[in-house]
Amino acid sequence: MITGAGSGIGKACALACARAGATVVLLGRALAKLEAVYDQIESEQLPQPAIFPLNLQSATAEDYQQLHNVLKDEFGRVDGLVHNAGVLGARTPIDNYTLADWQTVLAVNTTAPFMLTKFLLPLLRQAQDGRILFTGSSVGLNGRAYWGGYAVSKGGVEILMQVLADELEQSSIRVNSINPGATRTQMRVDAYPAEDPNTVAAPETLMNRYLFLLGPDSRDWHGQQVNAQPHK
Ligand code: NDP
Repeated sequence: MITGAGSGIGKACALACARAGATVVLLGRALAKLEAVYDQIESEQLPQPAIFPLNLQSATAEDYQQLHNVLKDEFGRVDGLVHNAGVLGARTPIDNYTLADWQTVLAVNTTAPFMLTKFLLPLLRQAQDGRILFTGSSVGLNGRAYWGGYAVSKGGVEILMQVLADELEQSSIRVNSINPGATRTQMRVDAYPAEDPNTVAAPETLMNRYLFLLGPDSRDWHGQQVNAQPHK
Protein backbone atom coordinates (compact mmCIF):
# COMPACT_ATOMS: atom_id res chain seq x y z
CA MET A 1 0.00 0.00 0.00
CA ILE A 2 1.27 3.40 -0.98
CA THR A 3 -0.24 6.63 0.30
CA GLY A 4 -0.28 9.66 -1.96
CA ALA A 5 -0.06 7.26 -4.90
CA GLY A 6 -1.75 9.58 -7.38
CA SER A 7 1.18 11.87 -8.06
CA GLY A 8 4.84 12.65 -7.43
CA ILE A 9 7.02 10.14 -5.60
CA GLY A 10 4.02 8.02 -4.57
CA LYS A 11 2.96 7.51 -8.17
CA ALA A 12 6.50 6.53 -9.18
CA CYS A 13 6.62 4.14 -6.23
CA ALA A 14 3.30 2.54 -7.13
CA LEU A 15 4.42 1.97 -10.72
CA ALA A 16 7.82 0.64 -9.65
CA CYS A 17 6.24 -1.78 -7.16
CA ALA A 18 3.71 -2.98 -9.74
CA ARG A 19 6.51 -3.49 -12.29
CA ALA A 20 8.34 -5.51 -9.64
CA GLY A 21 5.31 -7.79 -9.40
CA ALA A 22 3.40 -6.33 -6.45
CA THR A 23 -0.34 -5.96 -6.22
CA VAL A 24 -0.45 -2.32 -5.20
CA VAL A 25 -3.14 -0.58 -3.20
CA LEU A 26 -3.31 3.05 -4.25
CA LEU A 27 -4.40 5.37 -1.45
CA GLY A 28 -4.96 9.09 -1.98
CA ARG A 29 -7.50 11.85 -1.79
CA ALA A 30 -8.08 12.54 -5.51
CA LEU A 31 -9.92 9.65 -7.15
CA ALA A 32 -9.19 10.82 -10.70
CA LYS A 33 -5.42 10.78 -10.09
CA LEU A 34 -5.60 7.31 -8.53
CA GLU A 35 -7.64 6.08 -11.48
CA ALA A 36 -5.03 7.39 -13.91
CA VAL A 37 -2.31 5.41 -12.12
CA TYR A 38 -4.62 2.39 -12.02
CA ASP A 39 -5.15 2.66 -15.78
CA GLN A 40 -1.42 2.94 -16.44
CA ILE A 41 -0.75 -0.21 -14.39
CA GLU A 42 -3.53 -2.05 -16.21
CA SER A 43 -2.28 -0.89 -19.61
CA GLU A 44 1.12 -2.43 -18.82
CA GLN A 45 -0.66 -5.70 -17.91
CA LEU A 46 0.80 -5.65 -14.39
CA PRO A 47 -0.95 -7.21 -11.36
CA GLN A 48 -4.36 -5.61 -10.98
CA PRO A 49 -4.15 -2.80 -8.41
CA ALA A 50 -6.76 -1.62 -5.93
CA ILE A 51 -7.84 1.93 -5.15
CA PHE A 52 -8.73 3.28 -1.73
CA PRO A 53 -9.68 6.97 -1.77
CA LEU A 54 -9.13 8.59 1.62
CA ASN A 55 -8.45 12.14 2.72
CA LEU A 56 -5.77 11.72 5.38
CA GLN A 57 -6.43 15.18 6.75
CA SER A 58 -9.90 14.29 7.97
CA ALA A 59 -9.82 10.46 8.18
CA THR A 60 -11.44 8.99 11.29
CA ALA A 61 -10.74 5.82 13.24
CA GLU A 62 -13.76 4.31 11.48
CA ASP A 63 -12.19 5.03 8.09
CA TYR A 64 -8.98 3.27 9.11
CA GLN A 65 -10.95 0.34 10.50
CA GLN A 66 -12.83 0.07 7.21
CA LEU A 67 -9.56 0.14 5.29
CA HIS A 68 -8.26 -2.69 7.47
CA ASN A 69 -11.43 -4.69 6.91
CA VAL A 70 -11.36 -4.25 3.13
CA LEU A 71 -7.69 -5.24 2.87
CA LYS A 72 -8.23 -8.20 5.18
CA ASP A 73 -11.15 -9.46 3.12
CA GLU A 74 -9.49 -8.82 -0.25
CA PHE A 75 -5.89 -9.82 0.43
CA GLY A 76 -5.57 -11.24 3.95
CA ARG A 77 -2.23 -9.49 4.46
CA VAL A 78 -0.20 -6.38 3.70
CA ASP A 79 3.42 -6.94 2.64
CA GLY A 80 4.51 -3.32 2.51
CA LEU A 81 3.21 0.02 3.73
CA VAL A 82 4.73 3.18 2.27
CA HIS A 83 3.80 6.33 4.19
CA ASN A 84 4.42 8.76 1.37
CA ALA A 85 1.53 11.27 1.32
CA GLY A 86 2.51 14.65 2.63
CA VAL A 87 1.73 18.34 2.58
CA LEU A 88 4.14 21.23 2.79
CA GLY A 89 2.10 23.87 4.61
CA ALA A 90 3.19 27.48 4.74
CA ARG A 91 6.85 28.44 4.30
CA THR A 92 6.81 31.21 6.89
CA PRO A 93 8.27 32.15 10.30
CA ILE A 94 6.68 30.67 13.42
CA ASP A 95 5.35 34.18 14.24
CA ASN A 96 3.08 33.94 11.20
CA TYR A 97 2.33 30.20 11.24
CA THR A 98 -1.40 29.61 11.69
CA LEU A 99 -2.94 26.97 13.91
CA ALA A 100 -4.99 25.73 10.94
CA ASP A 101 -1.86 25.13 8.85
CA TRP A 102 -0.07 23.49 11.79
CA GLN A 103 -2.95 21.09 12.40
CA THR A 104 -3.30 20.19 8.72
CA VAL A 105 0.39 19.43 8.28
CA LEU A 106 0.62 17.40 11.48
CA ALA A 107 -2.57 15.50 10.60
CA VAL A 108 -1.44 14.42 7.13
CA ASN A 109 2.30 13.99 7.72
CA THR A 110 2.41 12.49 11.22
CA THR A 111 -0.99 11.47 12.60
CA ALA A 112 -2.06 9.62 9.44
CA PRO A 113 1.10 7.43 9.35
CA PHE A 114 0.50 6.63 13.04
CA MET A 115 -3.13 5.65 12.46
CA LEU A 116 -2.45 3.68 9.27
CA THR A 117 0.35 1.78 10.97
CA LYS A 118 -1.76 1.06 14.03
CA PHE A 119 -4.68 -0.28 12.02
CA LEU A 120 -2.65 -2.23 9.44
CA LEU A 121 -0.13 -3.86 11.79
CA PRO A 122 -2.28 -7.01 12.18
CA LEU A 123 -2.17 -7.45 8.38
CA LEU A 124 1.56 -6.69 8.17
CA ARG A 125 2.09 -9.43 10.77
CA GLN A 126 0.47 -11.86 8.33
CA ALA A 127 3.18 -11.15 5.75
CA GLN A 128 6.36 -13.17 5.56
CA ASP A 129 8.55 -10.09 5.13
CA GLY A 130 6.47 -7.10 6.23
CA ARG A 131 7.93 -3.69 5.49
CA ILE A 132 6.97 -0.23 6.76
CA LEU A 133 8.61 2.76 5.13
CA PHE A 134 8.11 6.26 6.51
CA THR A 135 9.01 9.36 4.50
CA GLY A 136 11.26 11.86 6.19
CA SER A 137 12.99 15.03 5.10
CA SER A 138 16.29 16.75 5.82
CA VAL A 139 14.41 19.49 7.73
CA GLY A 140 12.98 16.75 9.96
CA LEU A 141 16.53 15.84 10.98
CA ASN A 142 17.78 19.41 11.45
CA GLY A 143 15.11 22.07 11.74
CA ARG A 144 15.54 25.15 9.58
CA ALA A 145 13.92 28.58 9.47
CA TYR A 146 10.53 28.91 7.74
CA TRP A 147 9.82 25.17 7.56
CA GLY A 148 7.42 25.36 10.55
CA GLY A 149 5.01 22.47 11.01
CA TYR A 150 6.47 20.53 8.09
CA ALA A 151 9.86 20.19 9.81
CA VAL A 152 8.18 19.26 13.10
CA SER A 153 5.92 16.72 11.39
CA LYS A 154 8.87 15.04 9.69
CA GLY A 155 10.91 15.04 12.92
CA GLY A 156 7.95 13.31 14.56
CA VAL A 157 7.87 10.72 11.80
CA GLU A 158 11.54 9.85 12.41
CA ILE A 159 10.87 9.28 16.11
CA LEU A 160 7.71 7.29 15.34
CA MET A 161 9.80 5.10 13.03
CA GLN A 162 12.36 4.55 15.81
CA VAL A 163 9.73 3.73 18.44
CA LEU A 164 8.01 1.27 16.13
CA ALA A 165 11.27 -0.34 15.00
CA ASP A 166 12.22 -0.93 18.64
CA GLU A 167 8.81 -2.44 19.39
CA LEU A 168 9.01 -4.71 16.33
CA GLU A 169 12.61 -5.79 16.88
CA GLN A 170 11.62 -9.41 17.43
CA SER A 171 9.20 -9.56 14.51
CA SER A 172 9.85 -10.19 10.80
CA ILE A 173 8.58 -6.67 10.01
CA ARG A 174 11.31 -4.20 9.09
CA VAL A 175 10.71 -0.49 9.73
CA ASN A 176 12.75 2.32 8.19
CA SER A 177 12.43 5.88 6.95
CA ILE A 178 13.55 7.31 3.65
CA ASN A 179 14.48 10.88 2.87
CA PRO A 180 13.92 11.29 -0.88
CA GLY A 181 16.12 14.40 -1.10
CA ALA A 182 15.38 17.10 -3.67
CA THR A 183 12.93 15.49 -6.10
CA ARG A 184 11.05 16.90 -9.10
CA THR A 185 7.46 17.02 -7.84
CA GLN A 186 4.76 19.61 -7.22
CA MET A 187 5.81 19.86 -3.57
CA ARG A 188 9.35 20.74 -4.60
CA VAL A 189 8.05 23.42 -6.98
CA ASP A 190 5.90 24.83 -4.18
CA ALA A 191 8.87 24.89 -1.79
CA TYR A 192 11.39 26.27 -4.31
CA PRO A 193 9.42 28.16 -6.98
CA ALA A 194 12.55 29.83 -8.44
CA GLU A 195 14.40 26.55 -8.98
CA ASP A 196 14.76 24.98 -12.42
CA PRO A 197 12.95 21.61 -11.97
CA ASN A 198 15.38 19.97 -14.40
CA THR A 199 18.19 20.42 -11.86
CA VAL A 200 16.60 17.99 -9.36
CA ALA A 201 16.12 14.23 -9.57
CA ALA A 202 13.04 12.72 -11.19
CA PRO A 203 11.06 10.48 -8.81
CA GLU A 204 11.71 7.42 -11.01
CA THR A 205 15.46 7.67 -10.34
CA LEU A 206 14.93 6.99 -6.61
CA MET A 207 12.97 3.80 -7.00
CA ASN A 208 15.80 1.29 -6.67
CA ARG A 209 16.24 2.50 -3.11
CA TYR A 210 12.52 2.22 -2.41
CA LEU A 211 12.29 -1.28 -3.89
CA PHE A 212 15.29 -2.42 -1.88
CA LEU A 213 13.74 -1.21 1.37
CA LEU A 214 10.42 -2.86 0.48
CA GLY A 215 11.89 -6.16 -0.65
CA PRO A 216 13.35 -9.21 1.11
CA ASP A 217 17.00 -8.11 0.64
CA SER A 218 16.58 -5.38 3.29
CA ARG A 219 15.94 -7.82 6.11
CA ASP A 220 19.01 -6.51 7.98
CA TRP A 221 17.83 -2.91 7.73
CA HIS A 222 15.71 -1.89 10.67
CA GLY A 223 15.23 1.45 12.44
CA GLN A 224 17.41 3.13 9.82
CA GLN A 225 17.11 6.64 8.43
CA VAL A 226 18.00 6.17 4.76
CA ASN A 227 18.82 8.87 2.21
CA ALA A 228 17.57 8.06 -1.29
CA GLN A 229 20.21 10.40 -2.74
CA PRO A 230 23.16 9.85 -0.39
CA HIS A 231 25.67 11.81 -2.49
CA LYS A 232 23.67 15.05 -2.62
P1 NDP B 1 3.56 15.78 -3.98
O1 NDP B 1 2.95 17.03 -3.45
O2 NDP B 1 3.91 15.70 -5.41
O3 NDP B 1 2.69 14.51 -3.58
C1 NDP B 1 2.15 14.38 -2.30
C2 NDP B 1 1.10 13.31 -2.34
O4 NDP B 1 0.42 13.27 -1.09
C3 NDP B 1 0.06 13.57 -3.43
O5 NDP B 1 -0.30 12.36 -4.06
C4 NDP B 1 -1.09 14.12 -2.62
O6 NDP B 1 -2.34 13.97 -3.23
C5 NDP B 1 -0.97 13.30 -1.35
N1 NDP B 1 -1.72 13.95 -0.29
C6 NDP B 1 -1.58 15.21 0.17
N2 NDP B 1 -2.51 15.48 1.10
C7 NDP B 1 -3.26 14.35 1.23
C8 NDP B 1 -4.39 14.03 2.01
N3 NDP B 1 -4.95 14.90 2.84
N4 NDP B 1 -4.91 12.78 1.90
C9 NDP B 1 -4.37 11.88 1.04
N5 NDP B 1 -3.32 12.15 0.25
C10 NDP B 1 -2.76 13.38 0.35
O7 NDP B 1 4.87 15.58 -3.10
P2 NDP B 1 6.10 14.59 -3.24
O8 NDP B 1 5.81 13.47 -4.15
O9 NDP B 1 7.28 15.42 -3.46
O10 NDP B 1 6.17 14.07 -1.73
C11 NDP B 1 6.09 12.72 -1.34
C12 NDP B 1 6.72 12.61 0.05
O11 NDP B 1 8.11 12.92 -0.04
C13 NDP B 1 6.12 13.60 1.06
O12 NDP B 1 5.99 12.95 2.30
C14 NDP B 1 7.17 14.70 1.13
O13 NDP B 1 7.12 15.36 2.36
C15 NDP B 1 8.45 13.90 0.94
N6 NDP B 1 9.60 14.65 0.49
C16 NDP B 1 9.63 15.19 -0.79
C17 NDP B 1 10.76 15.86 -1.22
C18 NDP B 1 10.83 16.47 -2.58
O14 NDP B 1 11.86 17.13 -2.90
N7 NDP B 1 9.85 16.30 -3.44
C19 NDP B 1 11.95 16.03 -0.34
C20 NDP B 1 11.81 15.42 0.96
C21 NDP B 1 10.67 14.76 1.34
P3 NDP B 1 -2.82 15.03 -4.35
O15 NDP B 1 -2.15 14.61 -5.62
O16 NDP B 1 -4.29 14.88 -4.35
O17 NDP B 1 -2.37 16.39 -3.88
